[in-house]
Amino acid sequence: MEAVANYAFLLGKDGMNQLWESALSTLRPRLSEENYRTWLEPLQLEGMEDGKVTLRIPNRFYADWISSHYLDLILESLCREAGVDALEVEWSVDESLQAQLDEKAERARIRGEDAQRRRESVTPPAASSATPEDNGLNPKYRFSNFIVGPSNQLAHAASVAAASSPGTRYNPLFIYGGVGLGKTHLVNAIGHRVMQDKPDARVLFLSAERFTNEFIWALQNHRINEFRERYRTRCDVLCIDDIQFLAGREQTQEEFFHTFNALYHSDRQIVVTSDVYPQQIKEMEERLISRFQWGLVADIQAPELDTRIAILRKKAEQEQIHLADDAALAIAQHVASNVRELEGTLLRLAVKAELLKREIDLEFCNEALGTVAPRVPEKQTTVEDIQRATCDYFNIRLADLKSHRRHRAISFPRMVAMYVCRQRLKLSYPDLGDRFGGKDHTTVMSAVKKIGGLLEKEDADVRIAVAAIERKVGLG
Ligand code: ADP
Ligand code: MG
Repeated sequence: MEAVANYAFLLGKDGMNQLWESALSTLRPRLSEENYRTWLEPLQLEGMEDGKVTLRIPNRFYADWISSHYLDLILESLCREAGVDALEVEWSVDESLQAQLDEKAERARIRGEDAQRRRESVTPPAASSATPEDNGLNPKYRFSNFIVGPSNQLAHAASVAAASSPGTRYNPLFIYGGVGLGKTHLVNAIGHRVMQDKPDARVLFLSAERFTNEFIWALQNHRINEFRERYRTRCDVLCIDDIQFLAGREQTQEEFFHTFNALYHSDRQIVVTSDVYPQQIKEMEERLISRFQWGLVADIQAPELDTRIAILRKKAEQEQIHLADDAALAIAQHVASNVRELEGTLLRLAVKAELLKREIDLEFCNEALGTVAPRVPEKQTTVEDIQRATCDYFNIRLADLKSHRRHRAISFPRMVAMYVCRQRLKLSYPDLGDRFGGKDHTTVMSAVKKIGGLLEKEDADVRIAVAAIERKVGLG
């Protein structure tokens, strides 16, 4: 990058404006008109210096929103216009820009345009535009089509309990787990059950992203009172999906904090989902994290083989797909990670079978999934899986497991992991040595021998640990 540092100095104010305008004009066709007008038009380029560009924004929400939606585009375009390789952004809140927006909104209101705009808006729809029956629930997701197994039993039981007496014992209910494991499904099911028991209950389901959008929209359009009324006053059950979206969004967190308090203190039910445990949500205010734990925190794990089979059967029944038993087993063995993928695989197979006029039987599955024989779980499990399961079981860090530390709290789990890997994955000792952070093959050999010996002596600790780890990686 050339060393030209201060563009403001070189270009002068007009030059800067020109630069900004040409950057904007290349962006304009790439956004919808509405988004362009809402998010980019109000911005101004304040200066560019030492690889840093300062953008003037009407309020702090712009920083959040633009960072997660348009910043890459903006920087790319600015770099091109300015002929530099990279730029960092700094924000500068300018109240006069907010005043301009307010004025514009007011004028639009007087002209009655805002109603029209709200209808057309692709950005946050006004809270008030939602009809009472528009509760955001997905009609497909019910308790009746949710398969319960050991992996989701707790979350399911808690959801049923929260739905049957909202706002009492399990408040808030916090459900966490990896993608595609059924969180959204369960939360919707809660909403439907409440509505079924009490048709006039006011249930609202929405993602944290949508909550953020609506909040920003409400602020910009002077509808914050309506927003608050909707979420704090006229709501009996509030379900917020994927709360981790609020990470780093301080103002929205603040708003949600007050929403939470208002609902909680009037005994209304709050349900929140997240991809991680409350404490692991990054950049989330401590006071919110602690509130998430006031009620019940329930996790959902990846489903076990039997649950996966049952889910496949249910889905096949729903979609009227004829699925042979051994085919269900083959698919369930092939896709172990998450339910969404499991369903996706079934639907893809169904389409293919229909096109080829074939039955979905074992032979077809093996061909279509590219497995000669149905995959045995041993083939899917990796050294890494076993290492992670071991770390989870013993509550140690992966880095320690692979380290050379000799403390028993570390060396014992390491030996167990080596044993399981050797027995189940049939890897060579030198190979395993490499995979465990570069240990000598004799170290692995003696670990395997030692654990094998303890098992022969029926050592309960070892037996339970090995069984738990094997079960965890689907080998149990
Ligand atoms: P998440 O919100 O955890 O990412 P979803 O709730 O969107 O996951 O679930 C993904 C898909 O898997 C949905 O179609 C859902 O209906 C289905 N699903 C997940 N778990 C189950 C289950 N236990 N029984 C039936 N379907 C399930
Ligand atoms: Mg979800």
